[in-house]
Amino acid sequence: MQSSEKKVRDTRKKVRDTFFKPVEGTDDVWVCRYGTKRKVKDAGYANFVTHVQSQHPAEHSALLATLSIATSSQSKAVDSLFYSKNAVQVHGWLQFVVHCLQPFQVVEDPKFTEHIRYESLTQKSFKKYLEKLTKIVEQKIRNILPDIFAIVFDWWTTSDSHYCYVRYVCR
Ligand SMILES: [Zn+2]
Repeated sequence: MQSSEKKVRDTRKKVRDTFFKPVEGTDDVWVCRYGTKRKVKDAGYANFVTHVQSQHPAEHSALLATLSIATSSQSKAVDSLFYSKNAVQVHGWLQFVVHCLQPFQVVEDPKFTEHIRYESLTQKSFKKYLEKLTKIVEQKIRNILPDIFAIVFDWWTTSDSHYCYVRYVCR
């Protein structure tokens, strides 16, 4: 417990030190790389982390991704800073199954789950979250697409791999 709290603290400190520098001549004022000043309210880093998370979300995600690559135990600590345990688990499973083209049954296969850091899910809840995520992605695509467009498909095979290509074109 002590060591996971320390990891969380170290990560928050890293977020602060990446985005903020102390203002010379003060001992409790820090300035963000984009000029916003923040006063240290207590010994923690919450004030800095909240600022970075809300004002610079893209860079914040990029930093977290970099830290996640460092070590998986550290990434666990980083994830637990910002998201509920369940959200981290579900996100991990969705990413793994989709990116690694795994069958849905892996999420509840005990021989498989004993080797990975996420707790098993039922296929039923996995599919529930997959469908929810699909709706969100569909809405994002809908927001990007113009009113009139064409869809272009192509597909081909190289050795044993089969590819399908879909894109939209507009004037
Ligand atoms: Zn800022």
